Amino acid sequence: MVKDPVCGMEIDKEKAVAQQEHEGQTYYFCSVSCRDKFNAAPQDYIQNQAGGGAHKGKGGCCCS
Ligand SMILES: [Zn+2]
Repeated sequence: MVKDPVCGMEIDKEKAVAQQEHEGQTYYFCSVSCRDKFNAAPQDYIQNQAGGGAHKGKGGCCCS
């Protein structure tokens, strides 16, 4: 299962209606309209998923 980064819905990647590659990663979407929203502002959705980007850098104290 993968998560649609726009609406947060969990989907089976085999059944994803739309997909989009961004910076080497493939994202899956429940609908074309979700993909269109992602395309309009991919950073917004990626940052939301990471929880605000507090641990963006590598080699932090608690993230290996
Ligand atoms: Zn969606």
